[in-house]
Amino acid sequence: MIQSVRPLTAPLPAELANFAAALVEAGFAGDVASDHAARAAMATDNSVYELEPDIIVAPKSAADVEILMAVADRPAFRHLAVTARGGGTGTNGQSLNRGIIVNFQRFMTGILELNAAEGWVDVEPGLVLDELNGLIAHTGLFFAPNTSTSNRCTIGGMISTDASGKGSRVYGKTSDNALGLDVTLSGGRTIRSLEPPPAWAQSMLDDIADACDAGRQALIDNTPRISRRFTGYDLERARPAPDRLEWWRLLLGAEGTLGLVTKIRLKLTPKPAHKRLVVVAFDSFGAALAAGEPILAHAPLAIEIMDDWVQRLARDARLMDSLPLALRGHGEARISYLFIEFVGEAEDALEDLVARLIADAARLPGAIGSYCARDEADSAKLWSTRAAAVGLLGKREGARRPVAFVEDCVVPVENLVAFVDGFDAILKGHGLRYGIYGHIDVGCLHVRPALDLDDRADQATFQAISDAVYALCKRHGGIFWGEHGKGIRGAYLPDYVGPVAYAAFQRIKHAFDPLERFNPGKLVTVSRRPIGIVDLPFRQGNAVDAPGFEKAFHCNGNASCLTYSKTVPICPSFKATRDLRQSPKGRAEAVRKWRQAQEANDPDLAAIGRDTYAALDSCLGCNACGSACPAHVSVPALKSRFLAAYHTGHRRPLRDHAAVAVEAMAPMLAALRPLARRLTPMAGVMARALGLIDLPAISERGLRQLGHPVARHTEIGTVATDEKTVLVLEDAFTATFDTAAVGAVCDGLAALGYRPILVTLPPGSKAAHVKGMRKRFARLAARQIDALTELEKTGRPMIGVDPAFVLMTRAEFREVAPSVPKILLVQEFLRQRLAAGDPWPKALAAAGAPRLMVHCTEASAAPQALRQWQEVFAALGLPVRPTPTGCCGMAGLFGHEQRQQTVSRTLFDASWAPALAGEAAVLASGFSCRCQVERLSETTALHPMAAIAAGLKTG
Ligand SMILES: Cc1cc2nc3c(=O)[nH]c(=O)nc-3n(C[C@H](O)[C@H](O)[C@H](O)COP(=O)(O)OP(=O)(O)OC[C@H]3O[C@@H](n4cnc5c(N)ncnc54)[C@H](O)[C@@H]3O)c2cc1C
Repeated sequence: MIQSVRPLTAPLPAELANFAAALVEAGFAGDVASDHAARAAMATDNSVYELEPDIIVAPKSAADVEILMAVADRPAFRHLAVTARGGGTGTNGQSLNRGIIVNFQRFMTGILELNAAEGWVDVEPGLVLDELNGLIAHTGLFFAPNTSTSNRCTIGGMISTDASGKGSRVYGKTSDNALGLDVTLSGGRTIRSLEPPPAWAQSMLDDIADACDAGRQALIDNTPRISRRFTGYDLERARPAPDRLEWWRLLLGAEGTLGLVTKIRLKLTPKPAHKRLVVVAFDSFGAALAAGEPILAHAPLAIEIMDDWVQRLARDARLMDSLPLALRGHGEARISYLFIEFVGEAEDALEDLVARLIADAARLPGAIGSYCARDEADSAKLWSTRAAAVGLLGKREGARRPVAFVEDCVVPVENLVAFVDGFDAILKGHGLRYGIYGHIDVGCLHVRPALDLDDRADQATFQAISDAVYALCKRHGGIFWGEHGKGIRGAYLPDYVGPVAYAAFQRIKHAFDPLERFNPGKLVTVSRRPIGIVDLPFRQGNAVDAPGFEKAFHCNGNASCLTYSKTVPICPSFKATRDLRQSPKGRAEAVRKWRQAQEANDPDLAAIGRDTYAALDSCLGCNACGSACPAHVSVPALKSRFLAAYHTGHRRPLRDHAAVAVEAMAPMLAALRPLARRLTPMAGVMARALGLIDLPAISERGLRQLGHPVARHTEIGTVATDEKTVLVLEDAFTATFDTAAVGAVCDGLAALGYRPILVTLPPGSKAAHVKGMRKRFARLAARQIDALTELEKTGRPMIGVDPAFVLMTRAEFREVAPSVPKILLVQEFLRQRLAAGDPWPKALAAAGAPRLMVHCTEASAAPQALRQWQEVFAALGLPVRPTPTGCCGMAGLFGHEQRQQTVSRTLFDASWAPALAGEAAVLASGFSCRCQVERLSETTALHPMAAIAAGLKTG
């Protein structure tokens, strides 16, 4: 075991409190955190390990980093390890350590200088790859290295792992696209590769030059000459000639073991004008693999392979829908794919390449057929399969789950087939199943065998497989760490590079980091013991006797919840704060730690509970995580259960009771509508006293004044129905505060020729779920499920007005009952009827094409929503502009809580406000979203059915 790993929940020692205070006193402007939730969030990455740091600092600038390292150099703090962290997407524990974690992804995320004419950009290390490419898109240039984690990995992390991905044979790895960097060392001293070295650095650089000279030839002799070359401590490129030293190249791939990188200059590449993606299907993985070499002769940008296991998962996740049926396969058909991408400036030349490839591919053994994606959206969708592959493979099979540890070997392309045979034999020898995919143009294969690392026998298997695959890879002239960096697997480094090169590495480590403080124990150690691959605690993957909390143990750190894209719903609170504690990953880890502490009767349980409560409090409850997370970790579900347990010992705030009361009283308010409306100002004053603001006004018209039949759910048996009848289900919020939307849905349905009957249901259970009043939730949900079951007996379709309500019946209600009657979203019903060929009228004229946005919960749980609305509008001849957005910042009551205003507003401004600019009116499917638009903008938001009803009326 690594020395001096503190137990998970030990109290913060006084020295760390002193360190935090000293930082502030020295002028450190960033954030310092040492609460349990922050430490739990930073204790894991996408690896199998868990190592809790002591304190997390998030610098705001390079000057902050210098202050940090100057303070850390004081004798009282000199023993603390210092480890940089970017997106935390490392697959091998790269960013895990005890001591201080320097979190760059929170604040150091800017572009410092862009020079498009010369084709370079200076960036801070915490900038995310997709963010960078988005910000420079207008120049026609891009940063070419491409990772599957491009929406969440940082440039600092990419530089430090020498990341690469699709297209690396042509564009190179990150190290081939870096031009220089600044690094801060102990004492807060910074050395800049693009400036002459300071006087203090001269003797250090002399030592480094000598070390390079001593080890360079040995490294060259022991590492293969392949396109995915060996990097990290790259003595070869750091010393290109006897009189030249490019010291900064040693840091590329050094995984933070040499210092903290604070600025990076990157080379930019012109974006190709045109792309084509050809998918060739084969009847076996062996046939697809063997096809790699002949297809390489066509000189594509990239060739990626996907085996039948990944293919089936992708097909079931509906990612392959655009492929012709014959290529998609069905049932148990075992199909493997090659994805082949061409880029170029001239379309004709590209088409020629594609035609030649397709003709040649048809003659290859085992080829079934080919498909060429020509438009950007089609190829992006197909490529998303590749990016999603790790996530798809992350789906659990019982207690075992696919784990990263031998997942990115690279061998010369000509050795691939033999290498795969050997790999297969090793895994089959252990009776393991696995999926396989990768970049075969550069000989890189991704394999994640499924293991249960809570189990000692599987831990032994882990070590045995790792050793065997390392040896196999070396035998085939390959590199064990071909893409994802080394991390804890750096333990194999001395054997791989040999004693002479490793001794040179040690001299370099000593020159940069004489006290071995930077990411200690990894890659290269001098006086410390290196961390071996089974030395660290494994992250517990399965809950023991913790019903309802299992998912907290299933988070595998894949970090797909940390995407920065403004139009992807997951995760609003993380997007607004960039604080890992306020992300699904951070919250799952906090809940897991709290459960483990409960289980262990930890003396620090109270503090852990308090920190977990704080982490969960800012969750908006949109449940985008529940659908978008590859491991399906739903934070709202965990939060609901956590709050229930937490409040057995802590008094609930009054606002929780108020939130539940609003929903419970909705039917009464609806019944007493005129009186309730008169009392609205008084209710507003009371709400403000409880910390609630801008509550919506009670609608003027009641359900019975909308001009459509209304029935209580208990009366439905007595109501006449026919084949045109559609049951429209109200929910507490729209029925009380937005009857215009309910009316619009019914008017639209009627205009299309259906007979809507508005059905009132027993009181809703959403607020009880959100606030963790589990018994109340179970009671209310059960009553609603009973009502739905009765309604289902009519045989008529049921649609819900508000997506949040409909989707709750598909997610939260399952916590109460295994099967719940299916309620359709409005557009799902319409799309079904359109497909069934119902005769719909056509709109003759339309006033403009309004933007149409869907609720963020809907965008993740029912991702076809925008497309379905678009198809419905198109069928009616009504123009509309479907507009992808993220969360609007309302999410039920969240946006009405006074204390959440900053986050709520930030989210609205980031995602919705730009889409509303200049729009007098838009269409929005969610009640919350319409409320937020009304509250924070000058735009009017209507339900999409209002446009359909109006369009057909005028038509
Ligand atoms: C699902 C999945 C798919 C992946 N696909 C790919 C892929 O296609 N290609 C690929 O190359 N990798 C891939 N990876 C691995 C990972 O995304 C890359 O290694 C990525 O470059 C890590 O970036 P990060 O910002 O998350 O860094 P982190 O994981 O936070 O850190 C990585 C290392 O960089 C160091 N570091 C970070 N910032 C600094 C800094 N400022 N100064 C000094 N050191 C620093 C850290 O100490 C750590 O050692 C994948 C990972 C996952 C989970």
